[in-house]
Amino acid sequence: MTGFAPVLVSACLLGEKCRYDGQGSSCPLLLEKLRGRPVIAACPEQLGGLGTPRKPAEISGGDGKAVWAGKALVKNACGEELTEFFREGAEKTWRLLSETGCTAAILKERSPSCGKNLIYDGTFQKRLRPGPGVTTALLLKKGIPVYSETEWISGKGDWHCHEK
Ligand code: SF4
Repeated sequence: MTGFAPVLVSACLLGEKCRYDGQGSSCPLLLEKLRGRPVIAACPEQLGGLGTPRKPAEISGGDGKAVWAGKALVKNACGEELTEFFREGAEKTWRLLSETGCTAAILKERSPSCGKNLIYDGTFQKRLRPGPGVTTALLLKKGIPVYSETEWISGKGDWHCHEK
C-alpha cells in the first residue's frame, strides 16, 4: 500500500477561524511541513457543540486527564461549567480520527481541548501549567501519538510520515 496515512490537525492551525475569539491560528511552518500529506481538520470545541466566538475556557482543578477522572472541570471566564461540551468534543474527535484512518494528531498547544504539554491553569491570569487538554488526554489514552505544532515542526512526528 502506498501513500501517507492522514493526520488529524487542530482546525485553527490550518487557518479556520474557530478559536474562541473568532480567529484562526494559522501556522505557515506547519503547513509547509504537512505539504503532500492528507490532513483531517477538527475543532473539538465546535464538535462538542460550542459556538464561535465563545467565552474563553480553562480547566479548573487539573488537566485533561483529571477531567476524565472526574477530578477537574472546564469553566468559561464567567464561571459557567462546560465540561460536558469538552468531553463530547473529544469523543467526536476520536471517532473522526478513527473513521478517517488517521495515525497521529497535531494539536494546538495551550488550549483546554488541544493542548499537548501546556494548558492555562484555570485562573484566567494567562498562567500556564503542565498537562494535556481534554481531547489530547483522550487521544493519548487511546494510544494515538499526539504532537504539538512545535513538536511536529521540529521533526518529532517525522516517523509518522513514512508511507503506509
Ligand atoms: S478547540 Fe482546538 S481546534 Fe478548536 S479552536 Fe481550540 S485549539 Fe483550535
